[in-house]
Amino acid sequence: MKAMVLRKAGPAEEAPLQWEESAELVPGPGEVVIRVLATGVCRSNLHMVEGDWLPATPAFLPIIPGHEVVGLVTALGDGVRRVAVGDRVGVQPIWSTCGHCAYCLTGKENLCRQRQITGETRDGGYAESMLADAAYVYPVPDALSDVEAAPLFCPGITAYGSVKKARLSPGQKVAVLGVGGVGHMVIQMARLTGADVYAVTRSAVHQAVAEELGAVRSYSPDALPDATVDAAIVFAPSAAAVSEALRIIRPGGRVVLGVGETVGPMDIGDEKTVVGSVLGNRREMLEVLDLAAAGRLRSLTEPYPLAEANTALTDLKAGRVRARAVLVP
Ligand SMILES: [Zn+2]
Ligand SMILES: [Zn+2]
Repeated sequence: MKAMVLRKAGPAEEAPLQWEESAELVPGPGEVVIRVLATGVCRSNLHMVEGDWLPATPAFLPIIPGHEVVGLVTALGDGVRRVAVGDRVGVQPIWSTCGHCAYCLTGKENLCRQRQITGETRDGGYAESMLADAAYVYPVPDALSDVEAAPLFCPGITAYGSVKKARLSPGQKVAVLGVGGVGHMVIQMARLTGADVYAVTRSAVHQAVAEELGAVRSYSPDALPDATVDAAIVFAPSAAAVSEALRIIRPGGRVVLGVGETVGPMDIGDEKTVVGSVLGNRREMLEVLDLAAAGRLRSLTEPYPLAEANTALTDLKAGRVRARAVLVP
């Protein structure tokens, strides 16, 4: 099988991923081989490929990135009963978890310290085929195409987890800072809670996307007045966006961070809460797929050939991707 392989990190425009022949995959016990049909291009892939997270991530080189994958099961390892050859399934960033720690036993498996991350500690989906743990693949509803389903496995579950943590109720106001691959899904899911959604983004293209998806209004940064919303959800990768979020929430309000950023000074007299959010559990992943299959959530995608992954990453870096680039082998 062939794959886009990272041997050495470097700027996306210098094409650090190479289209190479890679070893045929043999599933271990509890594993499956998946023939990849579509893989989303995540901003975190860009960070890893460019070396922003060295030396911790990736766990090894060469590695195959990609963690929002849809494909067909082609082979089963020993003991696999949950899925069958020919099933169309998805794989998300959590490749596996330990299954028996306090987090795993209480539905917070996304926090498991033994978690394996697809495309970072295990080879991922920028490939014609990949290995997955059968306990962490999800059936893809027939109503969804390969390309539209792929981003549900990272932006979809990421957006879902962040909106849950915002604890919205009907009639409340929420600001969404950053309208990209994740933000465009956050807007839709926040609307499903009955809250009024205000999108904050510099880009005129993204402002139009936000309003198309049901945001009440969109704003440029700095344009929303102080203390106007109950919660703010931040997917814009900047410390300025975090202080913006703290400024626009009311006293007692919540800021949900979906990106790792610096949180500046906080006035404790306002009793504001800042909470981080990462993905979600397997139950929540199934809920995301149900929402999409019912037509209540859609992903906006732009397909690229798998062998042009470097171009997709370069376009993402340059802000030329409207919502989500998806690689198709
Ligand atoms: Zn991702
Ligand atoms: Zn665990």
